[in-house]
Amino acid sequence: MAQPSAPARPAGALPTDTLLALDRAHVWHPYGPMPGTATPYVVESASGVRLKLARPVEGRDELVDGMSSWWAAIHGYGHPVLDDAVRGQLGRMSHVMFGGLTHEPAVRLAARLVEITPEPLQHVFLSDSGSVAVEVAMKMCLQYWQSTGRPEKRRLLTWRGGYHGDTFHPMSVCDPQGGMHHLWGGVLPDQLFAPQPPAGFDAPLDAEYAARFDELMERHAGELAAVIVEPVVQGAGGMQFHSPAYLRMLRELCDRHGVLLVFDEIATGFGRSGALFAADHAGVSPDVMCLGKAMTGGYLTMAAALCTGEIADGISRGEMPVLAHGPTFMGNPLAAAVANASIDLLLGQDWQTEVKRIETGLRDGLADVAALPGVRDVRVLGAIGVVQLDHPVDMAAATTAAAREGVWLRPFRDLVYTMPPFVTGDEDVARIAAAVTAAAVAG
Ligand SMILES: *Cc1c(COP(=O)(O)O)cnc(C)c1O
Repeated sequence: MAQPSAPARPAGALPTDTLLALDRAHVWHPYGPMPGTATPYVVESASGVRLKLARPVEGRDELVDGMSSWWAAIHGYGHPVLDDAVRGQLGRMSHVMFGGLTHEPAVRLAARLVEITPEPLQHVFLSDSGSVAVEVAMKMCLQYWQSTGRPEKRRLLTWRGGYHGDTFHPMSVCDPQGGMHHLWGGVLPDQLFAPQPPAGFDAPLDAEYAARFDELMERHAGELAAVIVEPVVQGAGGMQFHSPAYLRMLRELCDRHGVLLVFDEIATGFGRSGALFAADHAGVSPDVMCLGKAMTGGYLTMAAALCTGEIADGISRGEMPVLAHGPTFMGNPLAAAVANASIDLLLGQDWQTEVKRIETGLRDGLADVAALPGVRDVRVLGAIGVVQLDHPVDMAAATTAAAREGVWLRPFRDLVYTMPPFVTGDEDVARIAAAVTAAAVAG
C-alpha cells in the first residue's frame, strides 16, 4: 500500500508548534503581512470573560478579555442562554436561503430591531458583516435619490476620524489618513470630508464648527446623497468621543439641505456607550442605521441596515423597484436565533447599571494614568476606556505588558484601549485598568 507522501492530519488537536507554523505559512490575520511576523496567542477555549491559552504567555494560561472580541462579546463567552439558543436552532435548521423563504428567527429579529431603535426606522436588511451593512446603507441612500429623480445626488459627506469597514465603499468614508486613501487614488469613490468634530462628550456645540459644516453642505447639497457618521464614539478611526449635540446639528442640517443621514452604530449599538444606541444620547433618529458586532452577542457574524418608510417607499417607486442586494447567508437562522437571545438577555437585565459600574471602575482605575509620561489623554465613556499616547504604541511590548497582568488587549496606532464584556466583575475591571496602565507605560 502506498504511503501518504505527507504526514496525515492528526486526528486530535494540532500540537501548538504545528498550529503556529501552519498559521504563519498560510493564514492571513487582520491587517497582517504574509507570512506573519508577530506570533499570535493560541486560544483553546473561552468561558465567561476569560480566554484559555494553549501555551502560557508571561506565565498566564488565562487572560481576561479586555476587548470583547472587538466590541462583540457583551455577555462574555459560553453564556448558557446563548449556547442554548444556538443549540436549539441547530436542531431545527442552521441555514436556509432567504430568497422566497422566510423563518421565525429572522422575522423576530427584524421586528425586535424595529421596536428598540428610533421610531422612524421601520425596515431591516440583514447581512453577514458590518462592512456589508454599510454597503447596503449607502446603496439604499443612492438608490433612493436615483428612484426619486435625483441621480446626481450620489456623493457622501462624513467627518474625519471615522471608520466604516474595509470593503471599498465603506473605505471611501473612513478617515483618509487612517484609511490610507493615498494608496487607492482612482479606485475609491471621491467623498467629501469635514473636519473632525471637537472632542469631548460633554463639550458644548462649537458654533463656528456648525457654521462651517452648514456652508459645506450648502455648497454640495446638489450632489450629496447622505451624511454618514459614527454617532458619539468614533471607534477604529481613533477612539474619539464627541458631544451628542453634533448629532442634533447633523439632523437639522440634513433636513435643511435635503440630505439623508446615516448612523453607523456597528460599534456603539447595544449599550456600549451607556445608551442602548448612541443616537439615544441625542434623541435623534437617522434615516438609515447600521448595526453589527454586539448584535449576536459576539457568537456569529450578522449585521443589519435599517431604514425609514420614506426611503423604502422611494426605492420601491423607482425604475428598478427593488433593493438589489441579496447575500447568500442573508438572515442566517443560527445567527438570528442567537441575536434574539442576546437582545433578550441584554434588555432583560439592568444593563445600564452594569455599563455604569464598568464606567466607574475604568474611571477609577485609569484616574492616575493621565499624569504618566508619554500619555496624551485618558477618556472613558460607558464601557469604553481609552489611553491615547503621544507616540505610536509598541504593540508587542504593550500586549506583553497587559498579558503579564493577566489581560488581553489589542492596542493600535497611539491607543491602548478596552471595551470589556458587560459581565466583567469589579475585580476583573480593576485588573483590566491595571493592564491598560501597564501597557501604556510599556508601549
Ligand atoms: C467594525 C465596524 C465596521 C465593519 O464591520 P465588519 O463586521 O468588521 O465588516 C463598520 N463600522 C463600524 C463603526 C465598525 O466599528
